[in-house]
Amino acid sequence: MQYEGRIFRPPSEADSLILQSTVGCSQNGCAFCSMYKEKKFHIRPLADVCADVDEIAAGPWAHAFSRVFLADGDALMRKTEEQLAIFSHIYARLPRCGRITCYASPASIRAKTQDELEALAAGGLNMVYMGLESGSDAVLSRMNKGATAAEIILAGQRVRAAGLRLSVTAIIGLGGAEGSEEHAKKTGEALSAMQPEYIGLLTLMLEGEEPLYSDYRAGRFAPPDQAGLLRELRTLIAHTDSEGSVLRANHASNYLNLRGTLNADKPRLIAELDAALAGRRALKSEWMRGL
Ligand code: SF4
Repeated sequence: MQYEGRIFRPPSEADSLILQSTVGCSQNGCAFCSMYKEKKFHIRPLADVCADVDEIAAGPWAHAFSRVFLADGDALMRKTEEQLAIFSHIYARLPRCGRITCYASPASIRAKTQDELEALAAGGLNMVYMGLESGSDAVLSRMNKGATAAEIILAGQRVRAAGLRLSVTAIIGLGGAEGSEEHAKKTGEALSAMQPEYIGLLTLMLEGEEPLYSDYRAGRFAPPDQAGLLRELRTLIAHTDSEGSVLRANHASNYLNLRGTLNADKPRLIAELDAALAGRRALKSEWMRGL
């Protein structure tokens, strides 16, 4: 099985079979993202995707995978009936597989009717990973996300109403130093409105390939400093009311690894951030933040 270009997956899909259903990202314009810049978005032929499944099923890995993650960035852009055919094929050919997940852009969710989302859940899609990035429209617009906060919130709510589990990602630092507080508060409010099962918090990293990097180099975008990022994370958590959501800020990009279940663990998470801000908790070194 050969992949087209670089492959990305959420940290929690480390043990999953990565099956490339689509290539690239249909939006591919977010200023902070370089993941699929070298790829032109397209949907792989159904027969090719099923052939990949058959190849795994015929080899020594047939019983190795209990989970499948559909790459790349926008697997839900495929027609629903084809999605369902892929799910059936996976479950028929990979006997240990009990879970299928994928990334889902707000646009790809918007393109599905509620009946289609429910059919995907009934057909064996368990969870989607959706990028909120920020709950602030000013930040989303500046970052060219291609959707407003209200549109992303609605997409998340529809996913949950369809019976799918939802994992939402937001990016600490995306509002810059200037917009940090609004970004934190609005992101917490947006997460509260969606009540996702999982919340993943990353920290902005600019490595040179992202369009935002040139703004940073030219002085048009200034990210918060390390203390500012910790304060922003504190504000975000304080403004998130999402009972039962598992919150993880343990991505390689974060200076401080945090994990807890809301709302019960909020006081502890905030106390950990306060300890870090007071210098009582060691932070990750810059060289350890590599992805
Ligand atoms: S952040 Fe997501 S939607 Fe935006 S360009 Fe990257 S993969 Fe596409």
